[in-house]
Order: sequence, then structure tokens, then C-alpha cells
Amino acid sequence: MDDDALRDGVPGEPAVVVAHRGRRFEVRTENGDRLVCEVRGRVKKAARGESPVAVGDDVRVSRTADGEGVIEEVLPRRSAFFRPVPGRDGLKQVIAANLDQLAAVASVHSPPLKTGLIDRFLVAAQTGRLAPLIIINKIDLGRPPELDEIVAAYRRIDVPVLLLSAETGEGLPALQERLDGHRTLFVGHSGVGKSTLLNRLIPGANIRTQEVSHFTNRGRHTTTHVELYELPSGGYAVDSPGLKVMGLWELGPDDLPGYFPEFGPYAAECRFQPCSHTHEPDCAVKAAVERGDIAAFRYDNYVAIRESLRNDPR
Ligand code: GDP
Ligand code: ZN
Repeated sequence: MDDDALRDGVPGEPAVVVAHRGRRFEVRTENGDRLVCEVRGRVKKAARGESPVAVGDDVRVSRTADGEGVIEEVLPRRSAFFRPVPGRDGLKQVIAANLDQLAAVASVHSPPLKTGLIDRFLVAAQTGRLAPLIIINKIDLGRPPELDEIVAAYRRIDVPVLLLSAETGEGLPALQERLDGHRTLFVGHSGVGKSTLLNRLIPGANIRTQEVSHFTNRGRHTTTHVELYELPSGGYAVDSPGLKVMGLWELGPDDLPGYFPEFGPYAAECRFQPCSHTHEPDCAVKAAVERGDIAAFRYDNYVAIRESLRNDPR
């Protein structure tokens, strides 16, 4: 251990946690070494109801054997995606820390383009302060008639939409530019091509792709496996099979309108204040939907998300 490492009293060298391996964690040190690490007892004690160590954490590690080490300290998190630990009130499982961008991936066909999950993820991105990005994959399979309206609706609220094909490579340079220097979480229905895309972006990643038929499984509550992949151009991509929604359990139905920016200019004109924009008479948001000033699919997704928050706050 050198003097530099000991200067602030905590031993070890800076590293980033890139994966969870059972009770141990894989980290990548600044010079690119990968170490499988145990966690020092005092790090666990300091955790206060959150996961002591999570993928994405900036940590300090000391080496113990070839390819092994100990996590000595977790640096303060700039952001965290977490979910409640079932049956353990107040405990939070941090799914990933220190991310700054969320890429919601969908496909034009197989599975068909659906915006419900994209809109849930856009709400989650705002609650987690992540910059949103929408990727519509499999553009080689054609353009469904509703595509233009969908793209226009998101561009109107300043969410970038990238149309691309992981298969042919069309549109990938624009994506690479957006990912450069960021820590981006990739989310979306299974089968939309996330793994194919990440394998394209990260040569050698060898992420397992699935047969399309697998997406009939999507309702299943799978364990969250999260892994950080280094991008050749700098930055990290985070794959999260099994991750469906994040952060929404902290949101009440009445908070939701604030997460649909295009409602803002009309909401002040509703007769009832506050207005849920669902059943109230003289609702200016509903009038804007009827005139076509707010995209009908965005409004429908709003109503569906609102309903899910009422029925199942978690
Ligand atoms: P994931 O579940 O989101 O990780 O999806 P996968 O990457 O496993 O892809 C699901 C299926 O879609 C696989 O059979 C892929 O070969 C196929 N696929 C992925 N990207 C494209 C694409 O751009 N075009 C076409 N036509 N098929 C794709
Ligand atoms: Zn209203």
C-alpha cells in the first residue's frame, strides 16, 4: 500500500463496483484490474437500512490475493435506484448507484411497439434524476403507422428518441455519442433487443440473448441481476434483466401529473384544483387530449399508471 492511498486514513485504491456475485462483489480498479471482493464489516454496519454495497458504487479496495480484495469504504452515492425489501419495513435494496442516464428500449415489432412501459420508465427517470433516452430498436423490420406520432410526442417533451437496428447497425453511432461518458441504465421489455444491442456496443461482453418466445415470461418476478459494462468510448452501460419499475412506490397518484410535462400548460386551467384529470368536469387536460394537443397514448398511459399507483403503491 502506498502513502497516497493512506493519506485520508482509509486504506485502499479507488474502484467501481461492476457486478454482484452472490455475497461478493466484482470491482474494477482505476488501472483496469478486476477483483472479486469481500466487504469489510464496518462498511456493512455503516449502511443504515440501505444495501451497504451496490453495483455502481465508487469504493476503495485493498488487495488480498491475486484477483481478490476487500471493500474498505463506499463513497457517498450521487444517486441510487432502490426498492423496498419485501417483508422488511423501511429497508431498501439499492439496485444500482451513481447512474445518470436511463435508456428505455422498445422495438417496432416482435414484441410490438408499446408505450406503457416507456412512460413508466420516464416517470422513474425523473424521480431518480436520470436523463431519459428512448431507443426504438429493430427498425429493419419496418415502421408501424403509429411510429411518427409516438416519436413526435416524445420529442415535444424534449426526450430524445433514437431509431436504430442492433441487427444491421443502423443508427448505432448516434447512440454511442449519447452514451459516451455516461453511466446508462438499459431497461425495457424482454425481447426488445437490449442484450443484442449491448453486445454490439461492447465487443466481448457476451451477454446472453434470448429467443423472442421468452418474452411471454415477462410478468414473472425475477431476481434483479445488475451488471455494469464498460463502453469502449468511456462510460458504462448497465443491463438489468428482470428490472421492471423503479422508484414508483414512493409516488402517490396525486404527484403523477407533475411527471407529464405536456400537461403543465393546461393543468392550471382545470375547473377543479387540484385536478386528477380523470373524472372531473371541465378538465383542460382532457380537452387538450380531445383536440389532439396532448398525445392520446400519453394520456392513456397516465391514467393506467395512476390506477396502478392507487391499487399497488409498491
Ligand atoms: P432482450 O431480452 O431485450 O435482451 O432481447 P435480445 O437481445 O435477447 O433479443 C431478442 C431477439 O430479438 C433475438 O432473437 C435477437 O436476435 C432479436 N433482435 C435484436 N435486435 C434486433 C434488430 O435490430 N432487428 C431484428 N430484426 N431482430 C433483433
Ligand atoms: Zn384536469
